Amino acid sequence: MVKTNKRDLVRAAAKARQGAVAPYSKFKVGAALLTRSGEIITGANVESASYGLTCCAERVALFNALTAGKRDFVAVAVVARAPGGPMPCGACRQLLAEYAPRAKVWVADTRELHVLREFSVRELLPAAFVEVPEDSD
Ligand SMILES: [Zn+2]
Repeated sequence: MVKTNKRDLVRAAAKARQGAVAPYSKFKVGAALLTRSGEIITGANVESASYGLTCCAERVALFNALTAGKRDFVAVAVVARAPGGPMPCGACRQLLAEYAPRAKVWVADTRELHVLREFSVRELLPAAFVEVPEDSD
């Protein structure tokens, strides 16, 4: 892995969090993905008046990265003002399982960015659905 360390990635997520658009919940989340080549791609949550359309920081970061042609993610940091750090929701776990299956997931509370909890995508979403089976009917 490249030299970008956990602290750099968490700082990038915290900076990205400042771009969150969360007028309804006020719950601002930032995420930063790290590619194997050392690039960092970030995102923040965006809410909608139609709440169900809201998109989490992790997915915004992932969509940013994927649509810029980035692959091979080695880590993702997610930060928010949440005790122990914000855990990715089920939808984000699904997308991470598909596009960043080997990434480490680091979460941190913005009030204690130096305290990281680490997970693997696999442990966050075991037995994930990641391939559409061929339908031979
Ligand atoms: Zn999510």
